[in-house]
Amino acid sequence: LPRAPATVAGTPTHCPYCALQCGMTVGGSPVRVEPRTDVPANRGGLCQKGWTAAELLTVPDRLTTPLMRAHLGAPLEPCTWEEALERITAEITRLQERHGPDAVGVFGGGGLTNEKAYQLGKFARIALRTSQIDYNGRFCMSSAAAALNRAFGLDRGLPGPITDLARADAILLAGGNPAETMPPFMRHLTQMRERGGALIVVDPRRTATARQADLHLQPSPGTDLALANGLLHVAIEEGFLDEAFIAERTSGFEAVRVSVNAYWPERVERITGVPVPHQREAVRLLGRGARALILTARGAEQHAHGTDTVTAFINLALALGLPGREGGGYGCLTGQGNGQGGREHGQKADQLPGYRRIDDPAARAHVAAVWGVDPGIIPGPGRSAFELLEALGTEHGPKALLLFGSNPVVSAPRSRRIEERLNSLEFLAVSDFVLSETARRADVVLPTTQWAEESGTLTNLEGRVLRRRRAVDPPPGVRSDLQILAELAGRLGAPGTWSADPAEVFDELRAASAGGPADYSGITYERIDAEGGVFWPCPSPDHPGTPRPFLERFHTPDGRARFVPVDYGGVAERIDADYPVYLTTGRVLAHYQSGAQTRRIAPLVERAPEPFAEMHPDLAARLGVREGALVRVSSRRGSVVVRACLVETIRHDTVFIPFHWAGEGRANLLTNPALDPLSRMPEFKVCAVRVEPYERN
Ligand code: SF4
Repeated sequence: LPRAPATVAGTPTHCPYCALQCGMTVGGSPVRVEPRTDVPANRGGLCQKGWTAAELLTVPDRLTTPLMRAHLGAPLEPCTWEEALERITAEITRLQERHGPDAVGVFGGGGLTNEKAYQLGKFARIALRTSQIDYNGRFCMSSAAAALNRAFGLDRGLPGPITDLARADAILLAGGNPAETMPPFMRHLTQMRERGGALIVVDPRRTATARQADLHLQPSPGTDLALANGLLHVAIEEGFLDEAFIAERTSGFEAVRVSVNAYWPERVERITGVPVPHQREAVRLLGRGARALILTARGAEQHAHGTDTVTAFINLALALGLPGREGGGYGCLTGQGNGQGGREHGQKADQLPGYRRIDDPAARAHVAAVWGVDPGIIPGPGRSAFELLEALGTEHGPKALLLFGSNPVVSAPRSRRIEERLNSLEFLAVSDFVLSETARRADVVLPTTQWAEESGTLTNLEGRVLRRRRAVDPPPGVRSDLQILAELAGRLGAPGTWSADPAEVFDELRAASAGGPADYSGITYERIDAEGGVFWPCPSPDHPGTPRPFLERFHTPDGRARFVPVDYGGVAERIDADYPVYLTTGRVLAHYQSGAQTRRIAPLVERAPEPFAEMHPDLAARLGVREGALVRVSSRRGSVVVRACLVETIRHDTVFIPFHWAGEGRANLLTNPALDPLSRMPEFKVCAVRVEPYERN
């Protein structure tokens, strides 16, 4: 990681990509970025994505004029903003008059600023009056969110400031590979290890992160829940329980104690493949010191039983008493840039701003008063992200979709089906700054501003609210999403006021969040500037913010954290004679999410030009596959053709394909959309596939 003091005379802001939200300065001519040393998350470090972020501002295929398709089958042609907005308004009006308000759906993104996420939720509920809104964060960390709410009554990523990590005695990280997804995060883990702390990584692959661990547990994909229950079994057996914490701060432990009886180490080894001594070693490392953290990321969460898997890790953390100690606890590594804030302000199907439930009458009354409408006009809960996408164009589903900040053609599971559903819509409008794979299918494309061209706030993986500042002028012809939403609201005759000014929208967001679980009412742009960020909840201007929300009490009615017994039921799709290998998907260092941004940056493409299937040489030998040869990987939902990459670091029964690419290597053609019953998270992380050598004709 290059370290350098900021020498660019420019604007202090934050990276356009992941949830670490590394601080950077943007300026110079030509525009470039340099890391900031005053931001605890990165302290002078950036990954390659961050270092090349300025190139996003000048990508050759940047959209600077709206595009419109005259009719089905016609090409996208440049048009004026007036024509584009008028067409959207007319299509919304036509379809809602014919089919009702839910004929129009809205799909948002976890990279949108807090202001945009807020305005998008408000736009759906009172400009369109549709219940059909959700966002791609449902695919990201909804299982951790559901488990956190169930156990602690509050969903906030890390349990404390990121600087707590370096002071931990041990950290167990399940299903995360920050050495590739957010490299500056590794510094905090390295500092911990230099102080004598231990890093335990749970991952079916010996990833770059796992290679730095003191102990690597390598379970079969989708068996983390059994492993977590097994670790708790060992903790009980070996006397590591924090009985005082369990008695004073939690409820429900006895049911969990009984349930994990069935997870004795030898049985857990049979289910997961993790040897008994490794299970015991992990518990001893976690239990030996005063401060330990258990963290999960997508590998443990993106499952049809993801909520229960995270719950099993939370049960373990509670039993060890970790959430009651400063610097310890359970936390989730958020993925997208505003993964945390994106789920707090009302773009989720079941939520209103302030992380309020949309079916709570008091929440509806509060938000309606801020919006200046009758609570009765706010619709109820809608469909979750995959269910919304799958319903598009069907008899009872939306006939039109407005999409902001997302690229589901690449990022949604079983993505061929999602393409078909998008193609069956009567109308699709997409706001983006490039013609993504999803935007190419739209009837209207709106060219929008991007990260360094606009202002707003984001909430990073710590729960710290940060300012993203406008550093350069946007190209002529583009508009911000806030402008677009305000103009459409005006054309649709929406009630209330609709500002395109981020500061004004943030002030309204503060009022709407007041009194809710995610209370931003005491946070102002001025405070963020002065304090370098403010942790929510922050209910008043003189409140210091809440870096460690669970030290004294949990946000449940009785103030106690809830143990919840959970059982391992297997993966949604098991391997069999036809599909004998597990597939798991994930990210690589050079790319971010659907790749719509990073696949346009030459140095990143040079480093990772195409998708690949990572597999063990023994598996490859059995299949007759050589290093670099093309293979066809097929699941019950589709096939991809990618190059084989032989590595000793993956299990013999598993292949790994990164999901950043479109075309014939699109990993999500294969993935299984089996949904978690609580979070509605699809099972991205495991399905059954067949791998065969492939010869081009
Ligand atoms: Fe940007 Fe994340 Fe890389 Fe930091 S780690 S530079 S926030 S992509």
